Amino acid sequence: MTSPLVLSPPLRAEDLPPVLLCLGGHDPSGGAGIVADVQTATALGVHPLSVVTALTVQDSRNAVLVRAVPAALITAALRRLDADMPVRAVKVGLLASPAAARAFRLWWRARRPRLPVVLDPVLRASGGRGLWTGAGDPLAALRACLPSAALLTPNHDELVALTPEITGDDEEARARRLCSLGAGAVLVTGGDQPTPEVESSLYDAGGRRGVWRSPRLAGAFHGSGCTLASAVASFLAHGYDLRAAVDEALRFSAVALASAWPLGRGGAIPRRCGPWR
Ligand code: PLP
Repeated sequence: MTSPLVLSPPLRAEDLPPVLLCLGGHDPSGGAGIVADVQTATALGVHPLSVVTALTVQDSRNAVLVRAVPAALITAALRRLDADMPVRAVKVGLLASPAAARAFRLWWRARRPRLPVVLDPVLRASGGRGLWTGAGDPLAALRACLPSAALLTPNHDELVALTPEITGDDEEARARRLCSLGAGAVLVTGGDQPTPEVESSLYDAGGRRGVWRSPRLAGAFHGSGCTLASAVASFLAHGYDLRAAVDEALRFSAVALASAWPLGRGGAIPRRCGPWR
């Protein structure tokens, strides 16, 4: 005998998850990119919308091919989803082409009210392969997007690449420069630095506002930056203020990395769907 169908009571608006709009590249290994965003948002009780900006061929070691999605398709997806669901925050990962960056920038400029955007300025896979394609300069395209970013999350290499006018190793000067170009705040993540501890610093136009240190974990990871940026965006979607969102996201990411799965021959895949508190 089949069991009777049990209908749940109608949901109230406050029972619904906040919606996070994610733009990013598809990494078929499931380590980085839009899959990382979707897993992170889902683990954190947020409903992810996924607008894919590029298809890539890559594994846990490196990328070998990138094909950008046409900008018109990205614009159409952004408009349609935004008109349909109550988007609370946006996470932008790999934009992959200057045309896609422009599509995002124009959509954001026209959008009212403003939404908090976390922009992860992805340039290359940690294996070294560049992830941008198409005509135009990726750095100029990313810099033009800075006014949209409530938070920019570069690693140290991305910070340096985005601020060629600053010389030397003054991280704060570079972060403040990005704020002067429009970013609300900059979280510089130190995972790519050869320091004994991983240090992440939060800056705004006024200087350094916070620093988080954690022991460096052994081994390499594939998708650590995507995990952190989408966790911050998920907490912003829940209504956390920026500092609390960064704090919680670093905690979530630390657990995901400490329990990462060594599934392939390259970086381990962060375990984003396990218990983390
Ligand atoms: N592929 C895509 C689509 C990404 O968005 C990213 C990072 O954001 C990467 C690859 C690189 O990930 P990782 O630096 O962890 O190799």
